[in-house]
Amino acid sequence: MSVDTTCCNNSCDNQAISEWIKSEEYKEKNFSREALTINPSKACQPLGAMLCALGIEGCLPFVHGSQGCAAYFRNNLSRHLREPVPTVSDSMTEDAAVFGGQANMIDGLKNAHALYHPAMMAVFTTCMAEVIGDDLKAFITNARNQGAIPEDFPIAFAHTPSFVGSHITGWDNMFKGLLQSLADPRHGKWTNGRLYLVPGFDAYPANLREYRRLVDAMGIPVTILPDASEPMDAPHTGEYELYPGGTPMAELADALNASGFVFMQKYSTQNSFKFVKNVQKINTEVVTMPIGIKNTDNFLMALTEMTGKAVPAELERERGRAVDAATDAHQYIHGRRFALFGDPDLLIGLVGFLLEMGGMPVHIVCTNGNAKFKKEMDALLASSPFGSEGKVYIGKDLWHLHSLLMTEPVDMLIGDSHGKYLAKDAGIPLARVGFPLTDRVNLHRSPIVGYQGAINLISLIANTFIEELDRTCSDERFELLR
Ligand code: SF4
Repeated sequence: MSVDTTCCNNSCDNQAISEWIKSEEYKEKNFSREALTINPSKACQPLGAMLCALGIEGCLPFVHGSQGCAAYFRNNLSRHLREPVPTVSDSMTEDAAVFGGQANMIDGLKNAHALYHPAMMAVFTTCMAEVIGDDLKAFITNARNQGAIPEDFPIAFAHTPSFVGSHITGWDNMFKGLLQSLADPRHGKWTNGRLYLVPGFDAYPANLREYRRLVDAMGIPVTILPDASEPMDAPHTGEYELYPGGTPMAELADALNASGFVFMQKYSTQNSFKFVKNVQKINTEVVTMPIGIKNTDNFLMALTEMTGKAVPAELERERGRAVDAATDAHQYIHGRRFALFGDPDLLIGLVGFLLEMGGMPVHIVCTNGNAKFKKEMDALLASSPFGSEGKVYIGKDLWHLHSLLMTEPVDMLIGDSHGKYLAKDAGIPLARVGFPLTDRVNLHRSPIVGYQGAINLISLIANTFIEELDRTCSDERFELLR
């Protein structure tokens, strides 16, 4: 491209550049960049650890590291949930970076325990603490020995280096840390008769409630571990509660005596899954996030196989309503082209849902996806004629996706609020699904999992298309019926 540098008006150059970045030539350059990431679709590990820790009753998340990092995690969660997120930080600064953060942690644990009276704390790290190699286990032991916290005060911990993985890795590490730190050893073959359901990184409180409703309907005693549905979505009662619900500590302590574990996400629970299944040898299943009808069927069948409980008639009727909703709306989604971005588990679920609706996933960008994810997604796309144009991009960011949208257009973008700039540039609607959702209200309060979630997603996508048609069509085509 040549840009006229003699022009007295920059607008000519700007226009030329804005046209150039829509070109194949620019896309090639964009996809060959190696040392620069622009708008990755992921956050760092401690954010995931914080969400995980919030799901235990009376738990105060404790960030061992910089105060600014802690503010970032809290802000991100608060903006999505529109809820306060109680968290403390031991505010490491330059001196701690040189001499180690032990003094900060001991003071921090002492103050947090005295001021906020938590039932337990969950400690995790930011980059700074990891770069200098702080040892959480030793620091916590020293804090107990020095009387900063009572000898028997429950603390879970996890190292969550932000330069590895993403928020889903942090969720996984913190979950494993909860089990390793606070779960009692397994009592041989005896079980407590409860199924433990592990949601993975899921910032939709409504999804967790939907899981509980479905498993309750099957008559299976269940513990959701961790259950952040109340901390993520506490009722307005006029009284501020610092610790509004969560999985009871006693149920965390008894976790390794579960009759079984079901993990609702694969990629955000990889280490924990191995720990529970291979190390603890507990009856364990992992399912695809139950987004859409087929994935929900598979989830309920997995429950049946694990527990011997049949799917009740009320859930069969609910399934029928979801099939009816899909039939009523299929003409708005069938054959339409989609681009998607987000976390791996969410994308596997969403693409399965689109394929069963006859939608065509074309660009699938997963910044925090790995080779295993790509293989699974490729196989999923190959399983349907509607997946024939689908391409999977792991490790790519939203600026790569921008080039894809400009050179190979689609009808709709599906992803979190960060996608709004891309959708605007591409002149297509954005269906907001994922985390974070910061520019619309209450979306996290409607489930996207289960049969009800399928109805919600069908309505969101179909109505977004219809809204767009009403907004952009000529007067002659502005119809009452759609
Ligand atoms: S990447 Fe590191 S410095 Fe940035 S917010 Fe995360 S922990 Fe803090």
